[in-house]
Amino acid sequence: MDTLIADCKSILGVRKPLRVIVRETRNENCALYWNEGKRHTIELFLDTIREDSRNFETILAHEIIHAWQTENKPRSKDHGRVFQNKAWELECALKTLGYNISGLYLKGIDK
Ligand SMILES: [Zn+2]
Repeated sequence: MDTLIADCKSILGVRKPLRVIVRETRNENCALYWNEGKRHTIELFLDTIREDSRNFETILAHEIIHAWQTENKPRSKDHGRVFQNKAWELECALKTLGYNISGLYLKGIDK
């Protein structure tokens, strides 16, 4: 997980520290992202992710795009064109590195 986080941060150019909390529990969403000003926090819910079509790595990388978005395009829409383009870039880069990542952005699901 640490390697994926480091690779995503490096590919995207995320500058601020990123805190990742993994919980065994269930949530309305697979993951949550929030901006705390001087750092980013991502919370992941394993029980919910197990029932999702996307794997843990994909969900985590998706949330790291939100961290990039907050630093660089704070006024862009959550899953709008800016996010979609960055998701495509990151997905290609991570696949090249050998990660099993698919569907960083899913139309109709990521609203
Ligand atoms: Zn999202």
